[in-house]
Amino acid sequence: MAHRTGRTQRKVRIPSSAKKKAKKEKVEKVGEIPCGVKSCDGFSDKHMGGRSLSQENGVEMWGEGGFTVRKNRLRVCKSCYKAWKKENKDDTSSHY
Ligand SMILES: [Zn+2]
Repeated sequence: MAHRTGRTQRKVRIPSSAKKKAKKEKVEKVGEIPCGVKSCDGFSDKHMGGRSLSQENGVEMWGEGGFTVRKNRLRVCKSCYKAWKKENKDDTSSHY
């Protein structure tokens, strides 16, 4: 009996034109305000955890000219702020 269950494995040929990976557009949070630290390409938007530091703080941490100031404040991204905070632990506001 040549009656097989209808499990035909079809070889599906993918035309090479369809090989392009569909760009998965991950909905990442996109920032608008770039991190003020020049060596960093993060974003300092509030919804992304960005913070603003004073210029003096910035100089201590990244050196003069190592960051860009906006309206007398240094806007930093979350990770830069964390890095800065690590270096400035004297401020014990344990609110996080
Ligand atoms: Zn940063």
